[in-house]
Amino acid sequence: MESKCFRNSKDGEQPWRVLEFYSGIGGMRYSLINAAVNAVVLEAFDINDVANDVYEHNFGHRPHQGNIQTLSAADIDGYKADAWLLSPPCQPYTRQGLQKGSKDARASSFLKILELIPDTTRPPLFLFVENVVGFETSDTHEMMMEILRKNQFVTQEFILSPLQFGIPYSRPRYYCLAKRKPLTFRSAQHDNQLLWSPGPLLWQDENTIDKDDDQSQEYWDGLLQHCQPIENFLEWKGSANGCDSKSSFLADNDSEKVDKDDGDIGHNSDFSSQYLVPSSLVKRWGNAMDIVFPHSKRCCCFTKSYYRYVKGTGSLLATKQGTEKCKSSLEELCLRYFTPREVANLHSFPASFQFPQHVSLRQRYALLGNSLSVGVVAPLLQYLFTEPP
Ligand code: SAH
Repeated sequence: MESKCFRNSKDGEQPWRVLEFYSGIGGMRYSLINAAVNAVVLEAFDINDVANDVYEHNFGHRPHQGNIQTLSAADIDGYKADAWLLSPPCQPYTRQGLQKGSKDARASSFLKILELIPDTTRPPLFLFVENVVGFETSDTHEMMMEILRKNQFVTQEFILSPLQFGIPYSRPRYYCLAKRKPLTFRSAQHDNQLLWSPGPLLWQDENTIDKDDDQSQEYWDGLLQHCQPIENFLEWKGSANGCDSKSSFLADNDSEKVDKDDGDIGHNSDFSSQYLVPSSLVKRWGNAMDIVFPHSKRCCCFTKSYYRYVKGTGSLLATKQGTEKCKSSLEELCLRYFTPREVANLHSFPASFQFPQHVSLRQRYALLGNSLSVGVVAPLLQYLFTEPP
């Protein structure tokens, strides 16, 4: 993908100096590594101590633990950073959230940090923002664009899903790429546009890029044909032993909420039963479940509530064959949850990624649900940091 006549490091040699805001479990940092950009992460910032434990476990550096809202222009200046990578909380913009946008307290730290840009003596040259679909129509987005315009940034925006990169995972997300003038994008014809296609990242020229409105069924059906099967992402391919009869789950019969004791999973000897979906839940919520098979080419977005709730939080895997459409046969499918490792695989996290032992199963799903697709963000970062000569 990389061309010799474009450079993606500072002065051809010096690494770009990067700050990672809302670092979570480090999806941005893995993306930067995968993008093979010559960059160094100077500091990561997150308020969540469990996320910081996971980050430290994998990168050997503990993020700055505090509220991003309290950072000053002088604090930021100290890093002499070239790039800011930001994945602020998405709840203000989700359909499940109240869509209060900038009025939601969780949005304020993001706007606050952007507002520091003109007060810094060394404003960033590159900015990358990740968020949920819906952000692009929020008032926070409007304010962000206004700040970027005023500070001489040129932007290109994308809404992309891992399905467009051969990964059998539907997780459409919004991305804003911004460069401060006189820096330019490789495909400058897309300046100030919102694209639904990865075309520019794949070196496709203007004529071959799918039109913004080409989100037809045909387009998505075509993509699915090129996706790998889900089985390539599974750590545990065999069928579930005895379905849920020996399940360690303590499911509440009538509630969608799955009240399980997920204590110390590291020492659970019965690995498989931990992930089985209890038959009481299948009976009660089977119709609302998104069920996939190892040969399927698509599964649904895993949210931070996966494993706690079954409806709309992510797909369940059928470990035995059955008739997909027939409700009465649902129990024969021996449904199980995807394991955190499998969710990490679908997020294209490297095999080396691990959770520290003390992080509970529920916390693992929550942290992964908040994280991002390295398979999508890496090519976006590579595109962002690539400078035309
Ligand atoms: N991209 C990250 C996850 C981003 S989710 C990953 O790959 O895991 C948003 C993160 O922002 C959460 O980890 C949350 O703890 C953190 N956060 C939210 N508000 C914050 C604030 N005001 N200051 C610092 N961190 C904050």
